[in-house]
Amino acid sequence: MEEARDLDRLDSLKRFREEFYIQPEMIYMDGNSLGLMSRRAERTLLEIMDSWKAHGINGWTGGERPWFYLPEQLSAKMAPFVGAKPEEVMVTGSTTSNLHQILATFFRPDGKRTKILADELNFPSDIYAIKSQLELRGLDPVEHLVSVNSRDGHLIEEEDIIGAMSEEIAMAILPSVLYRSGQVLDMPALTEAAHRHGILIGYDLCHSVGAMEHSLHDWGADFAFWCTYKFLNGGPGSTGGLFIHERHFGTAPGLAGWFGSDKEKQFDMEHTMTPAPHAGAYQVGTPNIFSMAPLAGSLELFEEAGLSALREKSLRLTRFMMELVDQELDGHGFKMANPREDGRRGGHVYLEHEEAARICSALKAEGVIPDFRAPKGIRLAPVALYNSFEEVCQTILTLKKIMDEKAYMKFENQRGVVA
Ligand SMILES: *Cc1c(COP(=O)(O)O)cnc(C)c1O
Repeated sequence: MEEARDLDRLDSLKRFREEFYIQPEMIYMDGNSLGLMSRRAERTLLEIMDSWKAHGINGWTGGERPWFYLPEQLSAKMAPFVGAKPEEVMVTGSTTSNLHQILATFFRPDGKRTKILADELNFPSDIYAIKSQLELRGLDPVEHLVSVNSRDGHLIEEEDIIGAMSEEIAMAILPSVLYRSGQVLDMPALTEAAHRHGILIGYDLCHSVGAMEHSLHDWGADFAFWCTYKFLNGGPGSTGGLFIHERHFGTAPGLAGWFGSDKEKQFDMEHTMTPAPHAGAYQVGTPNIFSMAPLAGSLELFEEAGLSALREKSLRLTRFMMELVDQELDGHGFKMANPREDGRRGGHVYLEHEEAARICSALKAEGVIPDFRAPKGIRLAPVALYNSFEEVCQTILTLKKIMDEKAYMKFENQRGVVA
């Protein structure tokens, strides 16, 4: 514990913790599922609610943050998070709806190239979206969804993905960071390989955006999509994001709607759409202004802290946690299934245990909020913006106490509705 306190004293990012609403008596290790609320996010949400109060319909073009331009303004602020040009990014939709838009726009089965490449550890929603898009085109997912297998049930080897890049693959959709094991995929190498094989490639950045840096434009990725309520702390259901490489600008949106119009033309109300000449073309309907308002404040904190400093601290937090797991939990039946190497490890530690569901219930009863993933996964995410080394230490010591005292036996080994 002394060591943890020393690390906190030396932490150059420690002032950011004060920006967040941290409940006393609670240690929050679930910022990779839903980030905490910051005072800045609260402020910008309240400001935008006030502009509705004060301006009514005129809030679209008047007031301090006219709603009509808010998505584009936030997109420009979001671009550095993914290493893109401002016009390549759009704050819109949700992870899943943005993936639908990307598939509807860019999946063009042609001759022998009729298949989509994904991985067997992918998030279910992404797989549902891919399967439904195949079915919409009369293609059987059993044949046309090619799923790369994991060798050990936790990690996906890049060489196995590249090995599956046949000339029947039109498109590859992969995570930047696997949501369970937290493995970071080598996006530059995968992108290069995909293009060598004539395949379009895009990434789901849900578990990396706000946690580490990206260079989507320079890597040459074709597209990407993500949510903003995890590491970006945009609040439950906050508006998602998409990236379209500029080489694809001008491709007609597969799912068209008037908010994808060139902003100068939108209110001409013509029945022939003039799409925006950039990623804005892939918006559909009226933006969810209150669901993006908190981002305006939240993103400021990242600009001040800097992504590279946040990533550096995040790696130190998870490394510290891994060391404590090794020291304190040995012999208690845990298996650490996240990669140990810094370059391959995302923003959380992933433990498996046969009693995971009730161990998580016991942790919650002790005030530690983990993230249970059925059937036996425990994700622990110490977040660089607001968690401390002391909290990491307390989390693992609490876990040790629960195991030593078998306190988890008081709970049922079942998941709740959400988890
Ligand atoms: C959180 C998450 C999602 C969630 O999708 P929504 O459309 O935002 O509900 C999708 N994919 C991955 C990898 C995720 O981690």
